[in-house]
Order: sequence, then structure tokens, then C-alpha cells
Amino acid sequence: MKRREIFAGNWKMYKDYNGAVALVNGLKGGLGDIGAREVAIFPPALYVREMVSLCTGTRIDVGVQNMYFEKEGAFTGELAPAMVKDCGARYILIGHSERRHVFRETDVEVNKKVAAALAVGLDPMVCVGELLAEREAGTSEAVVKTQLVEALKGVTKERMAKVVVAYEPVWAIGTGKVATPEIAETMHRFIRETLGALYDGATAAMVPVLYGGSVKPDNIAGLYAMENIDGCLVGGASLASDSFLDIIKVK
Ligand code: PGA
Repeated sequence: MKRREIFAGNWKMYKDYNGAVALVNGLKGGLGDIGAREVAIFPPALYVREMVSLCTGTRIDVGVQNMYFEKEGAFTGELAPAMVKDCGARYILIGHSERRHVFRETDVEVNKKVAAALAVGLDPMVCVGELLAEREAGTSEAVVKTQLVEALKGVTKERMAKVVVAYEPVWAIGTGKVATPEIAETMHRFIRETLGALYDGATAAMVPVLYGGSVKPDNIAGLYAMENIDGCLVGGASLASDSFLDIIKVK
């Protein structure tokens, strides 16, 4: 079975309203025939509703970069899962390294967010990845395994049809230091083996595993050629339609 291939752009805390509209219009205009490839954008939450209406009828799905796990309540500044769903978002990014490391999000919170997302029908894109010190200490696989196992606690095999995993080594994010295709592929294979042990081979074979961390038009080809890399999660290079389109259209 051929896995889904997803090219996702994480805009982080960039773009004003006009810039967001211009970016999405540039993407729409340049997409053309991308076959079965899927595209997702994660704009700042305040622009999501507008981006959803601009993307209706296109191949572009919209996601939100973060939310809280409670249904509702006195949680000033937070977004509830149902609100994210109500805005028309398909995806919710969960456990991005900036959430984990800048905002101290824990594996327990990540797991609660995954459960809350699935409960309202959102597709969680779950990010995992080791720090440079962890790679140098030889613990990358152990770190990623723990993040994955904890994130997916309580998620049934059936629900895994909605889950996307993104491997983003923290040392590669925003640094220009992309993982080599071999390093990335080794971890992607390990992630699939871990999913196989948690669920079964068929489930592991179906889950899209994206690579993220300094993906650019000039390094995507080597990554995309790898058997277990099913697309990418792009930060900086997704902020200009030309470079993101070049990535999406990789040969
Ligand atoms: P980058 O960010 O492509 O700018 O390294 C990737 C990410 O944080 O998802």
C-alpha cells in the first residue's frame, strides 16, 4: 500500500495578515498538478479561519500550531480543541520542539493534546526529535521512542489512521544543518519499527512520517528519495511560496 505523502508548512509566529494572504494566494496559484501529494499549512491561529476559506476547494489543508487539551474553561489565552475544529482546521501540530523546549511542554501534555484532538476529529501531527546533546550522547533513539510511546498512550489502532508523525531533530530546526538523508532515514525506520511494536506492521506501514529541520529546495530530493520519508514539515522555507512550491514539487 502506498502511504500518504504530506508537505507541510509551519509558519510559526511569522507573517502579518496581508503577508499571510499573499503567501496562501501564491501557493494556490503555483500548485498545479501535484498528483496524490497533500499540502498542509500551519498559519498563526488568528488567521486560520481566513486561510481555511481561501483554501476551500484547493489541495491545501490548514492546521493550527498549538491548542490546550481541556474542553473549555478559565484558561486565558488558550484555544480549545473544539474551537480549532470549528475554524475548519484539519490538523493540529502537537509537541513541536519549540513548544517542548521554549514553553516546557511535557510528554504528558502532548499525550493529553493528542487524545483531545482525536476526540474532536482533528488530525494530530505529532512532532518528536532529539536535542544535539542527546544525539552526541547516543540516546537519540531512546529519546524519540519515549516521546512517541508517551504521545500515543491510549490511542487505538483505528485512530492511528488520523495520526501523522514528524521527526524533527532539534539540532536541525532553524539552524540550516539538515540531517543527512541517511540519518533521517535511520530514525524514520526506527519510528516505523516502534509503531509496529506498539500496534502492528500494517498500522506502522500506513502512518505518514515526515522529516523536519532545515528542509530547503536544494536538500529535499535526497530526503524524499528515502523509503520511510513521506514528506516534510518545513519552517523557514515555507514562508515564501516559491521555495515551498519547489519543495512540494520535488522529483
Ligand atoms: P525549519 O523549521 O524548516 O525552519 O528548520 C522546521 C520546523 O520547525 O518545523
